[in-house]
Amino acid sequence: MEDLRLLNRLATGDRRALAKAITVIENDQRSASLLLNQLKPPGHVFVLGVTGPPGTGKSTLVDRLIGAFRRKGLKVGVIAVDPTSPITGGALLGDRIRMTEHAGDRGVYIRSMASRGWSGGLSRSTSQVIQLMDSAGYDVVLIETVGIGQSDIEVVSVSHAVLVVLMPGMGDDVQMSKAGLMEVGDVYVVNKGDLDGADLMVVSLLSLVRTLRSRSPPVVKVSALTGEGLDKLDAAIEEVRSKFREGNSEIRLKSIRGMLIQMAKGDLLERFQRNSARPADRLAREVLAGNLTIAQAAARLSNREATAP
Ligand code: GDP
Repeated sequence: MEDLRLLNRLATGDRRALAKAITVIENDQRSASLLLNQLKPPGHVFVLGVTGPPGTGKSTLVDRLIGAFRRKGLKVGVIAVDPTSPITGGALLGDRIRMTEHAGDRGVYIRSMASRGWSGGLSRSTSQVIQLMDSAGYDVVLIETVGIGQSDIEVVSVSHAVLVVLMPGMGDDVQMSKAGLMEVGDVYVVNKGDLDGADLMVVSLLSLVRTLRSRSPPVVKVSALTGEGLDKLDAAIEEVRSKFREGNSEIRLKSIRGMLIQMAKGDLLERFQRNSARPADRLAREVLAGNLTIAQAAARLSNREATAP
């Protein structure tokens, strides 16, 4: 009953209902499932992931993108994801959120989400918040990550399209390929185009994507600071968004698949964490007594049968 009222308010775009529903998701997965199961099938919102190493200007760029979408009359949700510890990372995110010039705009809803120690929960919550925002009539959700590693890649796997933001001076940065950034981008952004070395960065990036990818994605030079090149970036984003709006099933399936995997993974990890402590103690004793190898014990714990000793 309570749920139904919340859903009705959510459907009218009530911001407080959205905030409340997100709190339910963060605190109580059982109620979250009940709530999410009553949402209409997903499909309206376009999800754009924004990732890349720290300091490349993602937050500054996200602010610009919010502005561009708002000028088109679109309602924008932002999920700022912080996979690091709530203690060190939380403060950082807080600062980034406060900097936005769109905080007072009622057509913009910004929510920062920090993991509580395990990234499985973060990717799951992100998928769930997207569904809530979809239901609340948002046209676009921007997912901004801190850009540190695997959890970012997980989080952006739920997007319809991914912007990878880089900057001059990262030309031969092996970190880019190591972090998996070269595989996930639909559009590559060389931000800080106002600085020296931006053109060189574009050239190195183009050659890198061409060697790694069969269909090379666009590389766009912008300056989030001066606004230079943002029209070109907007055009590149609109191209993907128009495919999405025309119902391109490849793009839609990618995001649905990403969301269901992240949600299932979150559930599995949670269940494992809840149920594994006692058997792990018992198995550790068996290893100590010389009855099992650690590998065998691990296999038993994960319910796989160990290969013959
Ligand atoms: P994030 O860590 O990727 O989110 O990066 P931020 O948006 O916090 O930006 C990091 C720093 O780069 C800040 O000091 C920004 O003011 C600066 N910055 C962002 N965009 C540009 C740009 O286009 N040109 C220049 N010169 N600096 C920029």
